[in-house]
Formats: sequence, C-alpha cells, structure tokens
Amino acid sequence: MEGATNERLDFGKMGYGCQHYRRRCMIRAPCCNEIYSCRHCHNEATSMLSNILDRHELVREDVKQVVCLVCDTEQPVAQVCTNCGVRMGEYFCDICNFYDDDIEKQQFHCDDCGICRIGGRENFFHCRKCGSCYSVGLRDNHLCVENSMRHHCPICYEYLFDSLKDTAVMKCGHTMHRECYNEMMKRYKYCCPICSKSVIDMSGTWKIIDEEIEATVMPEDYRDRKVWILCNDCNDTTEVYFHIIGQKCGHCRSYNTRAIAPPVLPQ
Ligand SMILES: [Zn+2]
Ligand SMILES: [Zn+2]
Ligand SMILES: [Zn+2]
Ligand SMILES: [Zn+2]
Ligand SMILES: [Zn+2]
Ligand SMILES: [Zn+2]
Ligand SMILES: [Zn+2]
Ligand SMILES: [Zn+2]
Repeated sequence: MEGATNERLDFGKMGYGCQHYRRRCMIRAPCCNEIYSCRHCHNEATSMLSNILDRHELVREDVKQVVCLVCDTEQPVAQVCTNCGVRMGEYFCDICNFYDDDIEKQQFHCDDCGICRIGGRENFFHCRKCGSCYSVGLRDNHLCVENSMRHHCPICYEYLFDSLKDTAVMKCGHTMHRECYNEMMKRYKYCCPICSKSVIDMSGTWKIIDEEIEATVMPEDYRDRKVWILCNDCNDTTEVYFHIIGQKCGHCRSYNTRAIAPPVLPQ
C-alpha cells in the first residue's frame, strides 16, 4: 500500500519543468494573472515587454494558484496535487511557494533571508551584519558590509541576493558572482570594481614591480619629479617620486594607487 502511495507521489518526478527548475507545476503570476513555469521565466518574459511600464517582477510570496503539469488542474498552492495526487515538487517551501524536484541542490529556507537557498543548510550560516547567508568557511573570516548582497553584481548586473549562482566575497567585503570573479581574474584585474581595493594578496606582484623599478632608470628630466597619490588599498595620500612603471604607497607599500591633485594645505 505504502509503495503504491509513493509511486503516485513520485509520478513524473524530474520529467517536467523549465530551464531553471525541475517541477511538476506551473504558477499563476498574481501580478499579471498569466501562467509561467517559474518566477525567473516570468521575470525574463516581462523584462522583454516593449512598454516599460508593463515590466515587473513576480513577488514569490504572493503566488496563490498553481497548475499541475501531470493533470492540468489549477488549484491553491500545496505540495501534493489535490486532483491526481502527485507531489508537484520533491522540495516544497510554503513560504516562498517554491517547488523543485531536483533535491540534489539541497534547498533550504533561511528565515532571516526570507528566501530559499541551495547548497545545504549545514554549509551556510546567516551573517546578521551582512544580512545574507554565506558559506561556513566565511564565518568570522570576512569583512562585514551591511546589505552586501543587496546589490547587483558589478560585472553582469544581476541582482545578487537571490541569484541562483554562487557568490564570491572579496577581501574588502564586497560581493559578486563567483564566475564573474573568476572571469575578472582571468583578465588580470585584481581590484574590486566597487571600491578598487586589491582583492587578493598582491605582495608578490608588488615585489616584482619593486625589482622592475629598480632596473628601470628614469630619464634625467623626470628623476626629481614628485606626485601625490591616493592608495586604493589603505586610503592614505602620500607624496612620492614619479615613476613610469607605478607609484608605490608610502604607507602600505601597495602599487594599487592613483595620482591625485596635491592637497591644499591651510595657509
Ligand atoms: Zn523557469
Ligand atoms: Zn495533478
Ligand atoms: Zn522558502
Ligand atoms: Zn540567510
Ligand atoms: Zn558579514
Ligand atoms: Zn555577475
Ligand atoms: Zn570592494
Ligand atoms: Zn596604502
């Protein structure tokens, strides 16, 4: 008897869905009353609408009705279809009204974030200062930035907080997609696009630049020229000798600096 019940519940599992989720239902969008496979499908479709005023995002908590994909019955949100008895999502969250058959993603609902996340509850903790879930490796091991995830990825401009992609937290505490971060590294850009601080330990690179500067004699005319610089890493301003290869911060020895106008001294 129990075997038969499970067979019914599991009928069609992993067999339906969209490019975002495996699930056995579609949702009726409360905002536009249209039926979509998922919230992302809805948002992608509405973001293409020619009239800018028609563009909008679905509020997941507001979804009231779903349509079972096995029997086509529209009904109030629930895990099991009231008509055919299949589980419309192996994972189901009744706060987010969220369904997913692919439980290998290890979905969990974080009460503090107020949304479902993936990757396994035991692998994440909620940082109250940052206002988001981070992987446990970052516990007591990151610089907190208030609402650090409530912004768009500085590389691809997707909103980070509920993005399906993995995020990287940089040394400065700012965040971006892991894959966008890797792409940035591949292009030899080593400073945060938001605050310009170095994102990795650059001491090896600074040493190489030291040696290059040592070996590159500046032409006579330039030798005594000095410039004011602002250090992107420590925010200090210092006056240093100008060099074609780079200007080294007099405070923290970083070359991640930029030339600025000399400070106006009080008379
Ligand atoms: Zn979708
Ligand atoms: Zn059904
Ligand atoms: Zn949830
Ligand atoms: Zn959280
Ligand atoms: Zn934090
Ligand atoms: Zn990105
Ligand atoms: Zn930063
Ligand atoms: Zn510095």
